[in-house]
Amino acid sequence: MSKKVYNFNAGPSALPKSVLETAQKELVNFEDSGMSVMELSHRSKTYDSVHQEAKQLLTKLLNIPDNYQILFLQGGASLQFSMIPMNLLKEGQKASYLMSGSWSEKAFKEAQLIGEASIAASTKNEQYKSIPSFDSSTIESTDAYVHLTSNNTIYGTQWQSFPDTKDVPLIADMSSDILSRPLDIEKFGLIYAGAQKNLGPSGVTVVIVRKDLLEQENDNIPTILRYQTHAKADSLYHTPPTFAIYMLRNVLRWVQDQGGALAIQEQNEKKANLLYEAIDQSNGFYTGHATKESRSRMNVTFTLPNEDLTKAFLNEAADKGFVGLGGHRSVGGCRASIYNAVPVEACTALRTFMEEFQQTHS
Ligand SMILES: *Cc1c(COP(=O)(O)O)cnc(C)c1O
Repeated sequence: MSKKVYNFNAGPSALPKSVLETAQKELVNFEDSGMSVMELSHRSKTYDSVHQEAKQLLTKLLNIPDNYQILFLQGGASLQFSMIPMNLLKEGQKASYLMSGSWSEKAFKEAQLIGEASIAASTKNEQYKSIPSFDSSTIESTDAYVHLTSNNTIYGTQWQSFPDTKDVPLIADMSSDILSRPLDIEKFGLIYAGAQKNLGPSGVTVVIVRKDLLEQENDNIPTILRYQTHAKADSLYHTPPTFAIYMLRNVLRWVQDQGGALAIQEQNEKKANLLYEAIDQSNGFYTGHATKESRSRMNVTFTLPNEDLTKAFLNEAADKGFVGLGGHRSVGGCRASIYNAVPVEACTALRTFMEEFQQTHS
């Protein structure tokens, strides 16, 4: 028996146990090829069927229309911070950034290195406790795009509905909440996500891009940094991270088995409610960082009355097998990351622990 832990890591994070077990079973002899999926040529038929199935499953689960293309890239969401402006922000155009936390700041910083980028809304002055409100009259139809971070992994806030940016493409960093709920893909010009929170292991970044945006691309950037390069080659321009894509496919199969995005959303709401109720019913012992309307269903952030109690809470939690509850190093406090693969049972156990800890320490 392996050690029982409840994994609340922020990323890389929990994977469905059945997905890991399948990978283990298939590890040394994938589909009777006599070798591991890692050892197959990325040009082989056997690998190609994995690659294609991953795309098909994602298309189905997120209801991705035909005029969008899925790309499997490397370099993490962080490389997308640069690739987006390199490819899509032309001379004479402006990109607007909606700031809701550290990841938005990083994305904005890269865009500023490349072209004209400005902040259209921000909640930085309120410690990013909420999602900013965005006035679409600040954008012009000729703007390159509007960028937002759909879920703020560090602060624990999440866009519950998305702004209408009219003809200007909306771009979203969905690294920490992709496939946690159904999505209206047509609202977006481009969506990107590092896989390691909701989709699989680290190593692959999923980009979903509207095809017309690929046409107006910049030829003055290195070949490997152009979306077009990867789009034309079906993400096989160079060696893709084959094992990560195989794991992604297996996670997508698992999501399908759970009943798809809507069923996953219901589970996620149930999980988040368990923890937010513990906070709300604690008479102020636990304080949530996010305002109620902006609360994330993926990352639940909270503090205790003082630093000593926070430390004691984290130590006791660790002793009881709760892993990854420390807040991000930039903000401190506590954070429970409850991505798709975290079972309800883990949230129930954490809630019970929170209640018991409060009883013995207040
Ligand atoms: C984790 C995270 C990133 C960073 O992803 P990398 O794949 O490590 O580059 C970017 N944005 C958000 C919202 C994240 O949660």
